[in-house]
Amino acid sequence: MFHWKGGMLPSLVRSVLLWVVAGLALPAVMTGPADAGEAGLSVRNVILVTMDGLRWQELFGGLDEIMMGDADNGTKNPDELLRRFAADTPEQRRERLMPFFWTVIARQGVVFGDPERDSHIRVSNGLNFSYPGYSEILCGFADPRIDSNAKTNNPNVTVLEWLNARPEFAGQVAAWCSWDVFPYIINTQRSGIPVNAGWMPLAEHLKPTPQIRQLDDTASELPRYWAGVRYDVFTAAGALECLKTQRPRVLYVGLGETDDWAHSARYDLYLDAAWRNDASIRELWETAQSLPEYRNQTALVVTTDHGRGEDRIAWRSHGRDHETSDRIWAAVMSPTVAASTPVSGQFTQSQIAATVAFLLGLDYPAAVPQAAAPLPLQKAR
Ligand SMILES: [Zn+2]
Repeated sequence: MFHWKGGMLPSLVRSVLLWVVAGLALPAVMTGPADAGEAGLSVRNVILVTMDGLRWQELFGGLDEIMMGDADNGTKNPDELLRRFAADTPEQRRERLMPFFWTVIARQGVVFGDPERDSHIRVSNGLNFSYPGYSEILCGFADPRIDSNAKTNNPNVTVLEWLNARPEFAGQVAAWCSWDVFPYIINTQRSGIPVNAGWMPLAEHLKPTPQIRQLDDTASELPRYWAGVRYDVFTAAGALECLKTQRPRVLYVGLGETDDWAHSARYDLYLDAAWRNDASIRELWETAQSLPEYRNQTALVVTTDHGRGEDRIAWRSHGRDHETSDRIWAAVMSPTVAASTPVSGQFTQSQIAATVAFLLGLDYPAAVPQAAAPLPLQKAR
């Protein structure tokens, strides 16, 4: 794969080069050894959702009372939190926290990362924070040059950009993200992929209907707890409207609140964000199933950019200094993929990009040699 320094080439030349790279990759995909289309995993659309820094501990075990902390530090209304999410077993607790994930995605799809089932999926970039994690998810490999969260354009091509450069996906890729660094991670400037992120008005990428105007007005009047991360309700609403009105074949939704409430040491709001995210994913999925372009021909991939620390203080943070924050989780649901119990084995975050392409019937590692293989998925009978 070839690299260039940002700004080294005029953008037109860069676009042409990219097109050539994508074009040259075509024969390899069509004659590749394991033709994904033939394997029958090919669907028309993929919805990829990430929930920033949601720990595997809560995903698989739900509320952990040890993390609640005391009243002024952690959970403002413990009785209410317990009423919503407490239960006797980890299975009951996780289902209360993320009912769509556990009663639909996990039953109809495949979940990776449950240590109880000897399933391990890890970040391979060694840094365990957001930009390196999203770049690894979206590009399919870790790159030591990606070592900060600064707003610098990604020198690497994401699988989203790779797809968007193919004629059948051109203009059919969209991203809706809470964090304002995503236009750089996806490199909108070079990729041409619309990325609505941060506190950007939704109307920037949607028809300004009265409902969209109302959402933008509300967002502009709310106090902004984080300058660079908008509340997920706006991201989810924009993504849903994009799905309904633009019907992209590849929709990426980057939700952000889970990480930021955790950094703010608010276990109650961290869990509440996970619960709201789960409801948003359900709404996206159910809406997709009601539209002819998506019904029974759409795959859903859900994952996270990093884990977090383990104990009642360390859970708030993550990164190089928190060794265990390399542990993540991922789930795939598709009408073409057989449902299974959590898959045992060792997997990496870098396998997500090829998984997205594989679900669409394409062999990404054949075109991008440094990309990891797709996660193992069995064809539905
Ligand atoms: Zn973080």
